[in-house]
Amino acid sequence: MSTIEIRKLTKKFGEFVAVQDADLSVKAGEVVCLLGPSGCGKTTTLRMIAGLERATAGDVIIAGKRMNELTPEKRDIAMVFQFYALYPALSVGQNIAMPLHFEKLSQADADKRVKKVAEILHLTDVLDRMPGQVSEGEKQRIAVARAIIRDPNCFLFDEPLSRLDVELRHSMRGQIKEVLSNLSKATVIVTHDQLEALTMADRIAIMRDGMIEQVGTPHEVFAKPANVFVASFIGTPQMNLMEAELKKFSDGVVSVTVAGNNVEMPADPAVSKLKPSKVMIGIRPRAFTAESKASRSTIGAQAELIEPMGAETLIHARTESGGDIRVVVPRAQRIKIGEVLHLKPDPKQTHFFGDNGKAVRA
Ligand code: ATP
Repeated sequence: MSTIEIRKLTKKFGEFVAVQDADLSVKAGEVVCLLGPSGCGKTTTLRMIAGLERATAGDVIIAGKRMNELTPEKRDIAMVFQFYALYPALSVGQNIAMPLHFEKLSQADADKRVKKVAEILHLTDVLDRMPGQVSEGEKQRIAVARAIIRDPNCFLFDEPLSRLDVELRHSMRGQIKEVLSNLSKATVIVTHDQLEALTMADRIAIMRDGMIEQVGTPHEVFAKPANVFVASFIGTPQMNLMEAELKKFSDGVVSVTVAGNNVEMPADPAVSKLKPSKVMIGIRPRAFTAESKASRSTIGAQAELIEPMGAETLIHARTESGGDIRVVVPRAQRIKIGEVLHLKPDPKQTHFFGDNGKAVRA
């Protein structure tokens, strides 16, 4: 069974801890993206799974077998790197067939396999061309074809789309996802591009400073971020994170002072357990409605900058306490610079974080 599991996986370079106690398990047929800012330990984690880097502590278990001591070849993994070197003197078909050299197949069987993966990746028409005669998108697909031509234990991708231009990336994301969904293999993809992770992954593991901060479906990490870091990292435009003071909690309604306003809203009873003076409230720019007048459930802010975004408009506004707040409204809702907005947060999309940065939920 194609599965990948890492347990308490740790990598130190001298005194520096690049990855610490990473736990993750990837099922057969599942695509998990390791997502996080530059230097957070994504590639090091992937390289430890591949056997290209020796783990300082913890276990790498592939297809149910502990692999820590095995060389990359013995782990039987197919990898696609950011720099997918193709052999320039070999045709596209010969490049795709390269991994088959170790499986003593007859020429006819090898040709059949090449034909099949070329069909899957829409490369049939370019099989006889040389790598210098194909587009960047085709080169990328050749690299994927080369990875899937064997029947490996699992797939690892390291920033596979980062060399492609925006449009090509967009179409390749869908194509790779479709190919992977038919292969029933455990797959780990490293990316720093959240859109790539949100569109390609069944689950996302978000990393920061060598630690996995949260693992969840794209919807879970967006709608229920585990902490302030995940909340601010996932979602564009970025979530508004505002310091707040808890005043009262009764009958399921919380009173808070936030952005210079006293606001009341329904909230989870768990919120009442927070230290009153050390609360952070997170509200996504699309989780407000702009009301016509101030009320006990609105935050006042003055529009300072207006950015049209097609069907929607992004407004940067200044709150009464002097902070910035980002709000996205439908384009039809015309708002002018200088206008005072009365922003009502959707209580179901309002996140409360304690002084340890962790989200508070029932
Ligand atoms: P990026 O998105 O920039 O590739 P990443 O999340 O993949 O970043 P890693 O390449 O895993 O990050 O690196 C994690 C940390 O470990 C970084 O601070 C990096 O400088 C450090 N590091 C990586 N390899 C080594 C090495 N061989 N020796 C010392 N430090 C290293």
